[in-house]
Amino acid sequence: MLGKAAIAGAGLGGLAAATSLAMEGWAVEVFEQGDELREDGACIWLGEMALTTLGRLGALDEVLASGTDVEYWEMIGHDGTVIQSGGPRLGSTGRLHWLPRAELHRSLVEAGAKGGSENQYQRARNLCAG
Ligand SMILES: Cc1cc2nc3c(=O)[nH]c(=O)nc-3n(C[C@H](O)[C@H](O)[C@H](O)COP(=O)(O)OP(=O)(O)OC[C@H]3O[C@@H](n4cnc5c(N)ncnc54)[C@H](O)[C@@H]3O)c2cc1C
Repeated sequence: MLGKAAIAGAGLGGLAAATSLAMEGWAVEVFEQGDELREDGACIWLGEMALTTLGRLGALDEVLASGTDVEYWEMIGHDGTVIQSGGPRLGSTGRLHWLPRAELHRSLVEAGAKGGSENQYQRARNLCAG
């Protein structure tokens, strides 16, 4: 074991950091102030860097199985006008994937359970680091 790490917050960032540290050999505990492990919001776009990182964390297969790869997108105003449009390569390189936030969160929780210490999230439900 390299050492002990405590992470405040079981959002997408905290879960990814926890999994990464646990895979490196740290004993990780995640502290979440909320009553449950959950992710608010609808969907999320993930670009190449996020997808590559999820692959390293062992969560990519789950993520790709949910949602869809994006070949082309449009942002449409209330009057139907296309405000912006593009493909995966606009503003970034490589893939663009779109999926429900809850599915991404669940995939990271599962990746952490597989790659890290067994109980790393159990205490997250009712402890507040604040
Ligand atoms: C409208 C919107 C759309 C977005 N769309 C995209 C997108 O398409 N693609 C993309 O890559 N990113 C997108 N983002 C950004 C992305 O959602 C955020 O970067 C990401 O969710 C941040 O995750 P986080 O874990 O850092 O923070 P959070 O999701 O805010 O999680 C923080 C967690 O820490 C907990 N917490 C806080 N303080 C404490 C404490 N003291 N003790 C214990 N627990 C604590 C909170 O309860 C929460 O669960 C979007 C953001 C917004 C607002």
